[in-house]
Amino acid sequence: MTPDNSPVSPILPGAWLGMVGGGQLGRMFCFAAQAMGYRVAVLDPDATSPAGAVADKHICAAYDDEAALTELARLCAAISTEFENVPAESLDTLAKSTFVSPAGRCVAVAQDRIAEKRFIAASGVPVAPHVVIESSQALAALSDDAIAAVLPGILKTARMGYDGKGQVRVSSVDEVRAAHATLAGVPCVLEKRLPLKFEVSALIARGANGAAVVYPLAQNTHRNGVLSHTIVPAPDANEALVKQAQQAALQIAAKLGYVGVLCVEFFILEDGSLVANEMAPRPHNSGHYTTDACATSQFEQQVRAMTGMPLGDTRQHSPAVMLNILGDVWFPAGVGEAKAPQGPVSSTAAVTPPWDQVAAMPAARLHLYGKEEARPGRKMGHVNFTAPTLDEARTAARDCARLLHIATS
Ligand code: ATP
Ligand code: MG
Repeated sequence: MTPDNSPVSPILPGAWLGMVGGGQLGRMFCFAAQAMGYRVAVLDPDATSPAGAVADKHICAAYDDEAALTELARLCAAISTEFENVPAESLDTLAKSTFVSPAGRCVAVAQDRIAEKRFIAASGVPVAPHVVIESSQALAALSDDAIAAVLPGILKTARMGYDGKGQVRVSSVDEVRAAHATLAGVPCVLEKRLPLKFEVSALIARGANGAAVVYPLAQNTHRNGVLSHTIVPAPDANEALVKQAQQAALQIAAKLGYVGVLCVEFFILEDGSLVANEMAPRPHNSGHYTTDACATSQFEQQVRAMTGMPLGDTRQHSPAVMLNILGDVWFPAGVGEAKAPQGPVSSTAAVTPPWDQVAAMPAARLHLYGKEEARPGRKMGHVNFTAPTLDEARTAARDCARLLHIATS
C-alpha cells in the first residue's frame, strides 16, 4: 500500500468496489463495473435508490453511519462516489483503510462554491467576477458599490446547490440584501451575470499515477438552470477553444492531485473568452453521450481510475446528442393543467411516455434510471442519439424532443 492507499498494482475484476451514493450516476457505474466483472456495494440511505436496486450489495444507511462505513471499507478494495454532497469526512474515514478516489479534500473543494472558485482561479483558470458573502454580517458590512460592481448577478448558495437550486437572480443592491435573507443568510457567492455565447464542459479522467485522458469537448444547453441537451463534438467551439478548455480541466485536476473522472463546466462569453463555472468530482450529465459514442464510457473510466487499471481510449466513434429526460415528460399536458371534458380530472396523473416510439428511432438509445415516481424537474433518464453525421444525430434528437414535448431552445 502507498501512503494514500492507492493500489500498487491494479485491482483486478472479481474484487468488490464501493460506491457512496445510489443515484443514477451510481447505477450506471454499477453497470460498467459489473460488465467488467467487478462486484459493487452501494451505500445510500434510500431503500429504493436507482443504484441500490442493481448493486451486488446495497448498504442502506446514512452517509455518516459509522457501522455502515466500516462495513463498506472492509468489503471493498476501492471506493468512489457519485454524489458531491456526500460528507467529505465520510470519505476521509473510508480512506483510513481503503483507497478512496476522488479524495475527500477534492470533493470538499467542489462542494463549496467559495473554495471552488478560489481553487480554480489559483489554478490559473478565469472565473466569473464575484463577491463572497460569508454571512449576514459580512453582507451588512459590504458597501453598495462593492455589490453593484457584480450586478446584474446571481446569488448562489455556497453549498448544496444543484440544477439551479439555491440561486436567485438579482439586479439591484436591495434585491441582493433581500435575496440573501430568503436564502437564510447562509454563505453565498454573488456572481456577475455574464453574456453567454454558449456553454461547454470538459470531461477528463486521471489515474493515481498522474496519467490523464481527455474526452472531446461537449456543448451544453440549459433550460431553467438544468441541462437540457448536450452536443458532441461542440459545434461552436474552434480547435483553440477546445484545447484551452481541456487544458484548463487538466490543470485543475493536476493541481488537485485528482484521481477519478472530473468534469469542468465553462461559459464561453460573447467575446470568445472562457470562464470556468464549476466542477463535478464524478461523471457528469453532459458526459452521458460517452456510453454510446465513445470507446470507453465515463463510468468505465471511473472504474479504471479507482482500480489503477489503465485508463481507456476516449475516442469518439460517432457524433452524438444527449437529450435529458426530466419528469415533466410524464405530464404532457402540464401538472395541474390537464382538463377533461367534465372538469379537471387526474390533473396530476403521470402518463408513461411513448418509449416504443423512441425505440423505433434508429439513432436513439434510451437510458432510464428506474426511479419509481416521475416529478417535474426530476432527472428520470436520457436518450443518446448517434449517427454517421452530427446533423443526423441532431435531427433525430429534435424529432424525439418534439415527440416527448420537450422544448429545447
Ligand atoms: P448544475 O448542478 O445543473 O450544474 P447548478 O445549480 O450547480 O447547476 P450553475 O451551474 O451554477 O448551477 O448554473 C446553472 C446554469 O445557469 C449555468 O449552466 C448557466 O446556464 C446559468 N448561469 C449560472 N451562472 C451564470 C452566470 N454567472 N452568468 C450567466 N449565466 C449563468
Ligand atoms: Mg452547473
